[in-house]
Amino acid sequence: MRIASIHAHPDDAEFLAAGTLALLAKDGHEITIVTMTAGDCGSGEYGPEELSEIRKTEAAAAANLIGARYLCAGFKDLAIFSDDPSRRRVTELLRLLKADVILTASPSDYLCDHEATSILVRDACFTASVPNYTTGGGEAPLPRIPHLYFMDPVEVTDRTGARVDADVVIDIGSTFAKKKSMLAKHESQRAWLRLQHNVDNYLEQMEAWSRAAARAGAEFGEGFRQYRVHPYPQSDVLSDLLRSHLAAW
Ligand SMILES: [Zn+2]
Repeated sequence: MRIASIHAHPDDAEFLAAGTLALLAKDGHEITIVTMTAGDCGSGEYGPEELSEIRKTEAAAAANLIGARYLCAGFKDLAIFSDDPSRRRVTELLRLLKADVILTASPSDYLCDHEATSILVRDACFTASVPNYTTGGGEAPLPRIPHLYFMDPVEVTDRTGARVDADVVIDIGSTFAKKKSMLAKHESQRAWLRLQHNVDNYLEQMEAWSRAAARAGAEFGEGFRQYRVHPYPQSDVLSDLLRSHLAAW
């Protein structure tokens, strides 16, 4: 199957879904990791253009560890909005990706770019299959709406601080080391997060969140909620694909 992770910034997928993507890659699925931006505001040290190049290189190196392709959708940090041109742009991207399953950002999360990404991807899943919805690009409409899942928000809590309850939790114990290696490729973020977010240790923070997302019986987890509103696909294909890695309730 074709599986795409579409989140806002370089390193979001590595924090929230890389263990699951690594499991899917190991099973031979074709994985693409997309970031909406190149992370051009995530540094106090480099200017936006230089930083974008550094971060795209880091993201591609992380994706490469599981044989995944990396794409940047070309938006700018703190400038992702659900408007008409943006939705058409994301629609064209989905038509290009032709993914059967899409993992995207949580609808409620600490950062505006995450929430805007979630809305854009959710709505573009629908518009990508509407033949008369034009994008100005050359990609054909999708034959059907992809299966859509929201990743957990950062720290597994929404904007109000409430814990988010995933309906699928993947036990990522067997790919946790790989997830850590993928995140470690984002070297430019370590210093920045220490400065801006008061996260002292980048990798340990990811480890803590992966523990927080786990369910009984698993040490590390990643949670997902399927978007099943009509007419989106109802079948839980992610659970079907990773049946032997589902964390117990
Ligand atoms: Zn982010």
